[in-house]
Amino acid sequence: MSIFIEREKCVGCGRCAEVCPGNLLILRDGRAQIRDVRDCWGCTACVKECPREAIFYYLAADLGGAGGRLYARDTQDSLNWVMKWPDGSEDSILVNKKKANEY
Ligand code: SF4
Ligand code: SF4
Repeated sequence: MSIFIEREKCVGCGRCAEVCPGNLLILRDGRAQIRDVRDCWGCTACVKECPREAIFYYLAADLGGAGGRLYARDTQDSLNWVMKWPDGSEDSILVNKKKANEY
C-alpha cells in the first residue's frame, strides 16, 4: 500500500511535503517525489493536501480495491474521495468538512 505521484500534474507547491508526518516527500526539479516508497504507511495526508490531484493512493486487493486509485478533491466545504477503478468507472464519498466530527 502506498501513494504514487503523477509528476506531470505536480506544480511544485510543496504542500504535500509540509504535511507528510514521515518527512518522506521532497521537491526535486520543481516537482514532488517520495524518498522511498517502502517507508510510506498510507496515512493519505499528502493525497488530501494536493490541490492538483497529483497524488493517489493505491487501493490494494486487501482493501477491496484490486488496482483502484483513491484521489481527493478538496473544496472549501467538502472533501470528495474519488475512487477510480481499472475499468474506468468511478465512485466517490463526499465528506462535509464542517460536520466531520459527526461521522
Ligand atoms: S501517505 Fe502519508 S506517509 Fe505516505 S507519503 Fe503521504 S503523507 Fe507521507
Ligand atoms: S501538493 Fe501536489 S502539486 Fe503540490 S508539490 Fe505535492 S504533488 Fe506537487
